[in-house]
Amino acid sequence: MNYKGRLKRFRSYFRHYRLDALLVTHLPNIRYLCGFTGSAGALLVSRNKCEFFTDGRYREQADDEVQGARVIIASKPPVLAAAERLAADGRKAETKAPWWTGVEGEHLTLAERFRVGVEMRSDHRLKAVPPVAEVLRMVKDDEEIRLIRAAVSLGASLFDRALQAIRPGVKEVEVAAEMEYAARRGGAEGMSFPTIIAAGARSALPHARASEAAIPRSGFVVCDFGVILAGYYSDMTRTVHVGHPTSAARQLYQAVLEAQQAAVDAVRPGATVGEVDQAARKLLQKQGFGQYFTHSTGHGVGLEIHEAPKVAAGGPEILKPGMVITIEPGAYIPGKYGVRIEDMVVVTEHGCEVLTPTSKELVTI
Ligand code: ZN
Ligand code: ZN
Repeated sequence: MNYKGRLKRFRSYFRHYRLDALLVTHLPNIRYLCGFTGSAGALLVSRNKCEFFTDGRYREQADDEVQGARVIIASKPPVLAAAERLAADGRKAETKAPWWTGVEGEHLTLAERFRVGVEMRSDHRLKAVPPVAEVLRMVKDDEEIRLIRAAVSLGASLFDRALQAIRPGVKEVEVAAEMEYAARRGGAEGMSFPTIIAAGARSALPHARASEAAIPRSGFVVCDFGVILAGYYSDMTRTVHVGHPTSAARQLYQAVLEAQQAAVDAVRPGATVGEVDQAARKLLQKQGFGQYFTHSTGHGVGLEIHEAPKVAAGGPEILKPGMVITIEPGAYIPGKYGVRIEDMVVVTEHGCEVLTPTSKELVTI
């Protein structure tokens, strides 16, 4: 990974926010900027230095993984060790002007903010800055896209296991168990989120986790799942039908499929995420299902399952080549059933490439 280039782009925001340093505490951002994959750390980036603080448990791992930053093993929580260092650095800077340090306002807890503040001297100022690393992370480089492709491919292979497992009378958790076992056998670090298998009337719940409920003799089964591989997340949804679908069920499936395709077709550099959302929403509205599409069309995916940009109604972010987003419209008719279809796509120079290799034709079991 090109950590040097990432740090350079990260520091280019210092001017904009008038910062002397930025304290990074969100672990995926730390991983992105210096490579550390552990669960305790703080990265202090100033204009001319970059220091990574962790505790003794991570001594070897930090030495192996961290690039572009000096590793400091602290005997106190990493964020406080970083604050202490900041206070010492400020002292060396013999200037009357205040020393401004940015903190990640979306991630630092109030308790941490207070404790860091106690370490500061009177000429120190802290300010919460909007996401910086998250903005950089939106555009993936070639190496990241290669890793995402591998995660998507392993994730997609689990759908075959789902198709083998889904039978009337089998519990939703049993289907999820088969998929998750196959994921680990395939090398996954874990699942991207608790696998969603939602059968029958439960398919109308957009975020139903796999439950003890048995798959009915007839009805939709929403399968939403993904794996983490080498740090990168995958995410896909397919909805299958057990038994013979009614014509109303087929019509709903077809409408969601067309909405999904319309949104995929709208993905290109220069388009806003709001336009992509609108493409799916407009189609479902035209077919009379607009009120049943109750969430946004998609989200960025990378080192986290949900990251910027959010592909939501009216969203202003402009798509750029290298962004990886999901396209996942759905329609949920309360008490009856629901359908969602989700692919991951990467924005290319002229449009997009659908990464998820799985067919979207309605599978009946
Ligand atoms: Zn998703
Ligand atoms: Zn999903």
